[in-house]
Amino acid sequence: MKIFNKENFVLSLSSRHRPNYTVNLGETFAVETNDCYGGAITSPNQLRRDVKIDYINPATGPIYINDIKKGDTLCIEINDIQLDEQGVMVLYPGMGPLGSLVEDSDTRVFQVKDGKVKFNDSLSIPLKPMIGVIGTAPSEGEVLCESPGDHGGNMDTKYITVGNKVYLPVFHDGALLALGDLHASMGDGELNGSGVEIGGKVTMTVSKINESISMPIVETPESYMFISSDHTLEQAAKKGMEAVTRLFERKLLLSFNDAYRLLSATSDLQISQIVNPLVTVRISIPKEILSSIFN
Ligand code: CA
Ligand code: ZN
Repeated sequence: MKIFNKENFVLSLSSRHRPNYTVNLGETFAVETNDCYGGAITSPNQLRRDVKIDYINPATGPIYINDIKKGDTLCIEINDIQLDEQGVMVLYPGMGPLGSLVEDSDTRVFQVKDGKVKFNDSLSIPLKPMIGVIGTAPSEGEVLCESPGDHGGNMDTKYITVGNKVYLPVFHDGALLALGDLHASMGDGELNGSGVEIGGKVTMTVSKINESISMPIVETPESYMFISSDHTLEQAAKKGMEAVTRLFERKLLLSFNDAYRLLSATSDLQISQIVNPLVTVRISIPKEILSSIFN
């Protein structure tokens, strides 16, 4: 199995970047990733403001996938996530929605072992590894790895994890996949602006679907989640809702009104993150309603 090291990374997703790695459809491979600070913060003595970081959200790649073309959909099956031994959470005045209440900067480093993040002597958090940044080259230009979009990117969606599949639009031949920004744990919303930030190694298998999608989709054992990012929660919700309603019309041969009714009667609006340059929501369709979204 190929292992792609984290020394080759990008700070934005773009078709202008030359691929650093190549895989074939059906191939299983591993990707090492640095944490969102490029591994620059490793001790509680390092405050965020004192560390000059040129690398926010370095994403290992781009990975060129042979035989996948513009207009296809890339399917990524996440087989395994191995995390490093420690994660970090910085805080500073102004950070996140409650940033005005943060009086002093501090940095916490957490040991990760035995399936837990050790928060303090009496409190441990269950380990819930996830991938914060995973995306293909966007249709145009260059999108920084700190932003999500229709190409994926910094979606900070906790369901992007082992056992699930991520479907991404392919806007350029080869897809140009890149990923990074693992979290040892993060709740919906990413409420202070970060998860337990950590490096690690992700094992995945890629395949393709001969259909186009307009935004990323995550498949769990129970549901399909349309991942929609936009400037406000309302705009992101509306965009995701319309995509799912159109899918219901097409797949279930429903009128718009009935598809819109079915959306409201069955599907959940959930929040992935509210702290990135665009916010991200999910419209989650239970598989009892639609067992397959592709032909
Ligand atoms: Ca992130
Ligand atoms: Zn992160």
